[in-house]
Amino acid sequence: KQASYAKLREVEPFTRDGKRINVMMNAGLRDDVAMLAMTGADGIGLYRTEFQFLVSAALPQRERQARLYRDVLEAANGKKVVFRTVDIGGDKSLPYLSSETAKLDENPAMGWRALRLALERDGLMKAQARALLEGAAGYELNVMFPMVSEPWEFDAAKDVFDQQLAWLKTRKAQLPSAIRYGVMLEVPSLAEMLDQLLPRLSFISIGTNDLTQFLFAADRANPMLAERYDWLSPSILRFLSRVVSNCEGEQVDLGVCGEMGGRRLEALALIGLGIRRLSITPAAVGQIKELVRKVDTREIGDAMDGWLASPPLDMRVALQAWAKAHSI
Ligand code: PEP
Ligand code: MG
Repeated sequence: KQASYAKLREVEPFTRDGKRINVMMNAGLRDDVAMLAMTGADGIGLYRTEFQFLVSAALPQRERQARLYRDVLEAANGKKVVFRTVDIGGDKSLPYLSSETAKLDENPAMGWRALRLALERDGLMKAQARALLEGAAGYELNVMFPMVSEPWEFDAAKDVFDQQLAWLKTRKAQLPSAIRYGVMLEVPSLAEMLDQLLPRLSFISIGTNDLTQFLFAADRANPMLAERYDWLSPSILRFLSRVVSNCEGEQVDLGVCGEMGGRRLEALALIGLGIRRLSITPAAVGQIKELVRKVDTREIGDAMDGWLASPPLDMRVALQAWAKAHSI
């Protein structure tokens, strides 16, 4: 199997009906970037910048951050990288930052984390914004904000970047060749406000790990719940389908970066819903590229329409049978 995936490394993932699916990978450490060449992924759809903060004993200085971002872009060798601003706090608490909040956060996943923390500790956000802008000098910079739950949070976060950009311009510093901003859609409330936000976004990445836990009110880290909530449940698929329709006809580039996309049947379902960009764990890239090449998007799209309108007793069983019948 692994050998046959290796053969797919240089092969672009087109479906049987000629749709190009972007198969990107998730990363978090400088060394992960080597997996781009090894897997043949299209790029890094989610670079979790907080890893650097989590493995560090003190808050990483701006210069050190900028060097890391530059190294990542250089190592990516022209492939796209989407940097997610820090998603720390909550359960990913840092000894040098959030000791006072850890005690308050009884539900860390829903607590003072990610953008909520970064916008208040704006020194942290400013330093990261500047480090990204400096590190990406001469490159396209893709910035993604985590845990956005209302449009104003995106505006506030982008403001921080705009201010740093203005400052760099006064210094005549070399700037990124282009800057694209996007959000993670992982808090359900944002889905209701997408129409307001879409014109300001270049891309959206659905974070199905957090989205699922918030939709079902089910802690993603609790093994007692792991079997209970299925990514293939009709409620999730209907939710995602609404997001896809809301983005139709807009310029925004919509994708999924949760673990869901790295699983066979789940990826099939996502393609059936109209998702054309997946960012997944590097280990799954070969398998998902292989799957893409067997799929006809019209066939799975029609099947998915039928299941969403009238959900089968068990979506997983239905999809499995469908995949088998279509030699997938
Ligand atoms: C997600 O929530 O789906 C996601 C991709 O981000 P993380 O797993 O880092 O929370
Ligand atoms: Mg998340």
